[in-house]
Amino acid sequence: MEKVILIKYGEIYLKGKNRKFFEKTLENNIKNALNEFNCVVSRIPGRYEVSGFDPKFSSKILSAVGKIAGVFSFSLASVVDSELEQIENISIVETEDLDGTFKVVTNRADKTFLKSSMEISRHIGGLILSKNKSLSVDIHEPEHILNIDVRENKKTYVYVSSNDHKGIGGMPVCSSGHGLILLSGGIDSPVAFFMMNKRGVKLHAIHFHSFPYTSNLAKEKVLDLAKILAPFNGGEIGVYLCNVAKVQEAVHENCNPDYMITILRRAMFKIAERLSKDKNYSMIVTGENLGQVASQTIESMTVVENVVESTPILRPLVAFDKTEIIDIARRIDTFETSIKPFEDCCTVFLPDSPVTKPRLEKVVFEEAKIDLEKIIDEAYAGIERIIIKS
Ligand code: ATP
Ligand code: MG
Repeated sequence: MEKVILIKYGEIYLKGKNRKFFEKTLENNIKNALNEFNCVVSRIPGRYEVSGFDPKFSSKILSAVGKIAGVFSFSLASVVDSELEQIENISIVETEDLDGTFKVVTNRADKTFLKSSMEISRHIGGLILSKNKSLSVDIHEPEHILNIDVRENKKTYVYVSSNDHKGIGGMPVCSSGHGLILLSGGIDSPVAFFMMNKRGVKLHAIHFHSFPYTSNLAKEKVLDLAKILAPFNGGEIGVYLCNVAKVQEAVHENCNPDYMITILRRAMFKIAERLSKDKNYSMIVTGENLGQVASQTIESMTVVENVVESTPILRPLVAFDKTEIIDIARRIDTFETSIKPFEDCCTVFLPDSPVTKPRLEKVVFEEAKIDLEKIIDEAYAGIERIIIKS
């Protein structure tokens, strides 16, 4: 008997002819995520099996699997050959320390196995009852479930419900291509990052700073967030750092200050699109959320995205409530870092009354007072790239 981790995937099941591509992508992602643990990752029909690891790493491996998009659930299971006697013995061992109520749930993928799922559950349930006097059966609301998964590879995986974990679901990272996310140090964009990973997008991040108006600590906060997010993104993130202080200085000196944020955000999106085209990223992602602040009214979003020529902009949080976003931020562990009080470039040169419903003609008129293209060229040339690994 050996302990293994059994991984189930969800949505990939719905795929037709191209399912193999998704299965292979997920297999690669699992292998990458578990690389340091010297274990064997193998694909068995409908599942993946992780074996050969040192048991002292079990909890670290489980935690790593919990961050892989495309995984529906995963369990620390005992594996035996699909022979009734071995299944009986391991079922007794798995349940010997339990008390309270239980039931047995069998999934028989191997239709050649001599008993049906119902028969196995009933047989093993009766056997457990005769061996462990602290347990009784409750079919409807059991405290424990003993799962018996009889697979086509002639192996049976047995685990109790406390060893069964929910994965993050969705699609494997890379299966939906590459994107560029505008990553601030706030609460929203890291959550947007996670949501897009969950839909299979491998992300690269761009962070805009206003050094020397914003400190190095602000930059470090974003890199800390990237470190927390890297495991969801396949283990690493390329973070581009771009200084937009010159845009802000130019607007401050020449334009109506109420347009500071609108013009700055147009500059950010122009730079983001240029980078996406240069690097072949097929989408721009933001943490924008309709109505949250002045820069996120539909009028603001419209005049800002007007500078983007042909790259789709995806805003996975557009319709979320702040409380829903915070719940996810806590779950993915970015919240505590996000609320650290370092300034964002949007908070320097902040106007007293930013326009909330900018009109495009008015923005273009104000923007024409500076040589935005030239300033952007310089900012673009100065972009640095840092690779953050998990
Ligand atoms: P967040 O919590 O993600 O900072 P927010 O509620 O503060 O969002 P805004 O400041 O209006 O909202 O920013 C909206 C979006 O614009 C962010 O989610 C992010 O995608 C992008 N953004 C804002 N500031 C920056 C920055 N300094 N660098 C990169 N992207 C940024
Ligand atoms: Mg912000």
